[in-house]
Amino acid sequence: MTDVIDGNAVAASIRDDLTDSVATLKDAGVTPKLATVLMNDKQASETYISMKQRDCEELGIGAEDVRIDPDAPAEELFDTVADLNAREDVHGILVQDPTPDHVSDERVLSAVDPAKDVDGFHPENVGKLVGGNARFKPCTPHGVQKLLEHEGVDPEGKDVVVVGRSNIVGKPLANLLMQKADGGNATVTLCHSRTDDLAAHTRRADIVISAVGVVDLVDGSMLSEDTVVIDVGINRVDADNDKGYRLTGDVDFESAKEKASAITPVPGGVGPMTRAMLLYNTVKAAGEQAGVDVDL
Ligand code: NDP
Repeated sequence: MTDVIDGNAVAASIRDDLTDSVATLKDAGVTPKLATVLMNDKQASETYISMKQRDCEELGIGAEDVRIDPDAPAEELFDTVADLNAREDVHGILVQDPTPDHVSDERVLSAVDPAKDVDGFHPENVGKLVGGNARFKPCTPHGVQKLLEHEGVDPEGKDVVVVGRSNIVGKPLANLLMQKADGGNATVTLCHSRTDDLAAHTRRADIVISAVGVVDLVDGSMLSEDTVVIDVGINRVDADNDKGYRLTGDVDFESAKEKASAITPVPGGVGPMTRAMLLYNTVKAAGEQAGVDVDL
């Protein structure tokens, strides 16, 4: 019997646990606060920002929604981030991707104070993660690790195939899973668009994690019996509904479910975990900055 992993339920239990940490902070006179900075007018980014703001509010975390005209000079963004870095009442800062072409992505990553970098993408924090001493684990990889933990799947000694080598998902996830630490100790293979014979890799894996953005990239024929399948992909496909589209992952769910011992759906798998882990990092940042033990 295949277990369909309920990401919404796992995320809800993480948010529940965070309620106590938020209360501890408030007892100490600290309200954790996340500032989101948006410098584009894309509908998808707008949606992400409003979800993040709402998630914070539901947990009693302060949320500041900073908007910058996409046509404004790059310095306006960097000055804004510098102001947020300097503010004691702001504990986490997230610059929503993408920023306009005239703003250097690399400079954005380095602009946020590493202590407030709740995305975990500042070069200093990337270095700490690779060194096995992460300050903030990036939200999606951390969410995947938590899903596995919740599912009772210990990666130790397992063959794990991660498909996708982006800096925000594939690389940090592969790193976390290979580390000599709880939730790690796996033998990790990182596949990408130049991988020769992807199926040969996925077929010998105990755990397959796809973070690519290609519909039906992984199907049941590419899996062995009892594989754990985590689908990070989010893809829009045309649908006969009000929106005109529906969301689907990288994995052909129906055929993969025939082989998998456990599998995440899309939507309702990794997505809610990413949101929950942003709250986790914000609470962690507030605890560290205020010198309060938030027990995470
Ligand atoms: P990127 O586009 O940055 O990276 C995609 C990766 O997939 C690249 O490494 C690319 O290889 C690889 N790839 C592309 N085509 C193939 C192929 N045919 N076979 C094998 N590998 C391939 O994407 P992101 O990492 O930002 O996101 C990946 C997916 O995850 C997207 O669908 C995104 O929407 C989703 N996502 C979901 C989140 C969630 O919360 N559920 C959060 C973040 C992202 P190469 O490096 O060679 O180009």
